[in-house]
Amino acid sequence: MTNRILLSSPHMGGGEQKYIQEAFDTNWIAPLGANVNGFEHELAMYVKSKAASATTSGTGAIHLALDLLGIKTGDIVFCSTLTFIASANPILYLGAEPIFIDSEPDTWNMSPQALTKAFEVAYQKKTMPKAVIIVNLYGQSAKMDELMAICKQYGVPIVEDAAESLGSIYKGKASGTFGKFGIYSFNGNKIITTSGGGMLVSEDESLISRSRFLATQARDAAKHYQHSVVGYNYRMSNIVAGIGRGQMEVLDERIAQKRAIFTRYSDEFQKYEGLIMMPELEGTFSNRWLSTMLLDPAKISITPNELIDALDSENIEARPIWKPLHLQPLFEGCDFYAHIDNDIVSERLFETGLCLPSDTKMTEEEQERVIKVIKNTLRFK
Ligand SMILES: *Cc1c(COP(=O)(O)O)cnc(C)c1O
Repeated sequence: MTNRILLSSPHMGGGEQKYIQEAFDTNWIAPLGANVNGFEHELAMYVKSKAASATTSGTGAIHLALDLLGIKTGDIVFCSTLTFIASANPILYLGAEPIFIDSEPDTWNMSPQALTKAFEVAYQKKTMPKAVIIVNLYGQSAKMDELMAICKQYGVPIVEDAAESLGSIYKGKASGTFGKFGIYSFNGNKIITTSGGGMLVSEDESLISRSRFLATQARDAAKHYQHSVVGYNYRMSNIVAGIGRGQMEVLDERIAQKRAIFTRYSDEFQKYEGLIMMPELEGTFSNRWLSTMLLDPAKISITPNELIDALDSENIEARPIWKPLHLQPLFEGCDFYAHIDNDIVSERLFETGLCLPSDTKMTEEEQERVIKVIKNTLRFK
């Protein structure tokens, strides 16, 4: 039996243990402490953000961001449709309503054209959104210049979901640092992991300080336990943050490995018409968290699901592209704006795309095995 080749799994660097040991040695297991402060500082330095607060998950960080923006029952939030459910769940936690925005083909991320349409309608109907959640899919930055200009015109703040794009760069600036808030995730399959965790970043230090207050049950400054607003239990533990500090030491190495994996696929597949690797927009640098590609149905007669099954039968894990949120049963009835009517880009990407094994522990020989299975399974028209 061959080893199973995974999509993306935790890859420790070796430095994690020393930070955890320090926490044990000082009995600083919980709650906060040197590792949490250190991790926040080191991540903020890395992305050149003014302030960061560590959370139990990326989802929690989005929830805090929306709460800090004052989102409440009945409010509207625009959100990228082509993403993991966690981008939008916090909208529902606050009783607000999501409206989903299609992708455009150059980055697979939020379409400025569709966002403009959504704003024009909202403006006319006087149902303006309170925030726009922009996702950077699989490490690729969205068209931030265009999207930010539109949001600025309407005076609506951005929450940048950079859960998948830590280390990516858009025109010289770190992905996740463009909005009022940015969030990162350290879930098990992300480019670096703490076993589970997240980070909220912002240029506004007072908002980050407020996020720490909300994330620790919103306890007022009084000796007795007194509370005036709803709080959460979202602070990262000092042990978990220790893993994060060790992972920060290898982040650049992981990005280089992810990019090398992508390049190997790309070099092999570019000669096949109908195999299209995910683009990298000019002026951007992707961490290539997952190597993803499209099978053009005009040229290739197998579907992504057939290819995923063929890989699985060879003990290789691959996965479809995220199912657009406007197609999820949970969001039935929510409004959606397409890039072009009759050509819904996110649906086309979902129907024709797949994520290839992008595990940084995968050897070159193992990746050869993946490539061979793909070549043997392909059927051309
Ligand atoms: C992983 C992910 C999240 C959620 O992060 P968690 O840390 O798992 O809560 C949010 N958005 C996107 C796009 C993600 O991929």
